[in-house]
Amino acid sequence: MSDELDYSALGLKVGLEIHQQLDTKHKLFCGCPTSLASDDVPRKTVERYLRVAKSEVGEIDPAALYEMRKGRKIIYEVPEGHACMVELDEEPPHELNRDALTITLAVAEALHSKPVDEVYVMRKIVIDGSNTTGFQRTAVVAFGGWVEDEEGKVGIQTICLEEDAARKVEEGKGYIKYNLDRLGIPLIEISTAPDIRSPEQAARVALKIGLLMRLTGRVKRGLGTIRQDLNVSIKGGVKTEVKGVSKLDLIPKVVKYEAMRQLNLLKIKEELLARGVKERDVYDQPIEITEILSGSGSKLVSKALKRGEKAYAILLKGFKGVLGKEVQPGRRFGTELSDYAKAWGGVKGIIHSDELPGYGIGEDVVARIYEVLGGDPGRDAFVFVLGNPDKAFRALKAVGGRAKHALQGIPKETRGANPDGTTRYLRPQPGAARMYPETDVPPVRITEDMLREAAAIKPPTPEEMLAILTERHGLSRELAEGLLRDPALQTYLDLVEEVEGVPPQLVASTLLVHLKGLKSEGVDPSAITYEVLKEVLRAVAQGKIAKEAIPEILLKYGKLGGKTPIKEIIDEFGGVKVEDLDSLIEGVLSENEEVVKAKGERAFSLVMGKVMGKVRGRVDGKLVAERVREKLKDFLRRSS
Ligand SMILES: [Zn+2]
Repeated sequence: MSDELDYSALGLKVGLEIHQQLDTKHKLFCGCPTSLASDDVPRKTVERYLRVAKSEVGEIDPAALYEMRKGRKIIYEVPEGHACMVELDEEPPHELNRDALTITLAVAEALHSKPVDEVYVMRKIVIDGSNTTGFQRTAVVAFGGWVEDEEGKVGIQTICLEEDAARKVEEGKGYIKYNLDRLGIPLIEISTAPDIRSPEQAARVALKIGLLMRLTGRVKRGLGTIRQDLNVSIKGGVKTEVKGVSKLDLIPKVVKYEAMRQLNLLKIKEELLARGVKERDVYDQPIEITEILSGSGSKLVSKALKRGEKAYAILLKGFKGVLGKEVQPGRRFGTELSDYAKAWGGVKGIIHSDELPGYGIGEDVVARIYEVLGGDPGRDAFVFVLGNPDKAFRALKAVGGRAKHALQGIPKETRGANPDGTTRYLRPQPGAARMYPETDVPPVRITEDMLREAAAIKPPTPEEMLAILTERHGLSRELAEGLLRDPALQTYLDLVEEVEGVPPQLVASTLLVHLKGLKSEGVDPSAITYEVLKEVLRAVAQGKIAKEAIPEILLKYGKLGGKTPIKEIIDEFGGVKVEDLDSLIEGVLSENEEVVKAKGERAFSLVMGKVMGKVRGRVDGKLVAERVREKLKDFLRRSS
C-alpha cells in the first residue's frame, strides 16, 4: 500500500467540529462551579434505569442498546458542591449563563461570524445516559464566518453554546457509571464547512481555532477541555464522522488514514463487482460448525467450548482474499467486519478464512468448513464466531450486512479514533439530530451591551498578537514572527503566564531553537512534555540552573527516554550554592594573586573567565559576575 496520497485527486473534504469548555464561574444553567471534583470530594450515588423508545434505536451504540433492552442500570455519582438538583433533573434549569454567552460572542466576532438576534435554547436527544434529562441543551449563537489559512479560507457554519455531558467513569456488565461534575459545564461548539483539503490543513485550522479561543483568556486549559470531531470524505466515498480526537497532532493521521480507508473500500467494491459478486452471495444464515472445530486442537476454540460457547459460520461467496486486504495500517477488511461483530453481538471478534490456517486450525479443518458451508475454497470466504447462539447470530447478521454493503461502497458510520490514528466502527450515523425547544429557559435577546462586552475580550488578530509579542514581551521581530507561524505559540503563552519571572525571550528560544534542535541529536521533541518544560524554565527563573544548561538538560532527559524525573536531572546540573561559588572565586584569586594585584579591578575578566570555566552550565553567568566583582573588591582591599 502506497503511503503517500494525492489528496486533490482523491477529492478529500474535511470539516471540523471543535468543542471547548469555557472557564466561567458557574455552569451553563445552574450555580455549580465549572471544575471537576477531585477523588476525595464526598459523593452520593443515584441509580436510574434507561429505557429506549423504538424510534431512537438507530442512533445508539448497538452494544449499549443490547444492554438497555435488558434494562441497563445507570449510576450517577453526585460529588458534593459540584452538582445540584438541576444536574439531577429534579429542578428546572436556571437562566442561561450570560458570561458564557459573552465569551461565545467574542469568539464569533473573531471568526467573522454573524450573531443571531435572539438565542433559543434547544433540546437535542441523547440516549446513552450521559445527560440525566435524556437530552443535551444547545443554542445557536452565530452563523457563518471564516478562518484564514495558507491553503485557502475555511468557512464557519455555526457557533453554538451548549452544556457538556456527564463524565463516564466506569462501565461494566449491565451498568454504566457517570460523574455529574462535568454535566452542565459550558461548551462552545464551532463547526467548519467541509472546506479543508489536506490532513495538514485540518491540523492547522484546528490549532488556529483553538488558539483563538485560548486568547480570550476565558476558556479551560488542559487534557480533555478541548475535543475535536472530524468529518472526512473522498470522491465516491461518504462523509464519515470520527469522534473524540483529543490531541491535535493526531488530526493529520486520522484524516490520512480515513481517506486511505475509504479509498481501499472503494477498491474492494470494484474488485467484488469485477468478480460478479451479488448481495445474494452473502449467505447470512449462520451454520453451526462446533463439531468440526471441536477436534481442531485450537486452544482458542477449546477454551470457548469449555465456557459452553458454540461456533457458527457464514459463507461469503466470491470474497476470497478480500477479508485479508489492508484498509488502514494494521487493519484489514476483516477487522471492519470484526468491529461489527463486536458492536452488534458483543462477541470478542471473528475468525475468517483469509487468516486460516492459523490459531491452531489446520488445512483439513478449513476444508471441512468449506464443505459444510457449500463453498469453493478457491473463490469463497467464510467468517465464524464463537459465543452463545443469541450473540453469535446477532454478530454474524451484522457481519453479513456489512459484507453486503461492500458492494455498494462505504457505509455511513460514526467512528472512533484509535491512539495510532486509525479508526474503528462505533455506531451507525444518526439522522439529522432531532431538536425541540427547551421551554424551561427563556430566549435571550442579544443586546448592544452584550456585544460591547464581547468586543472587550475578543481575541487579538495576528497583527495585534505580533505587537503583544514584540512590545509587551520584548521579543525580537524575527522570533515573534516565527512564533506566530508556529504551533508552539500556545505553549509559549501558557509558559510565560505560568512560570513566574521567566524572560519571554528565553521561553521563545527554548521552544523554537533548543526543542527543535533535539531532532538532530536523535531525540523526539514531542517526548519533552509541557510539565518538563515548565520545571526546567522555573529552575532557570529561580536561579537554580543557568539558562545555558537548558539544551543539555533537555537532551539528557530525552535520551533517557523520559524515565528519569526531570527534577533529578535539574539537580545534577544545578546545585552550586553561593557559598561554594564564593570559595571557588577565592581560590582562583589566591592562585593568581600576583596578576590580580598588578591588574587591580581590570583583573575582573581574567577571574571571571577562570571561574566560568569551572561552573558553566551550572550557575547563572550574571550571578557569577556579581560574586566575582564583590570578591575581587574585597581581595584588593585586603591586600592593599
Ligand atoms: Zn448544579
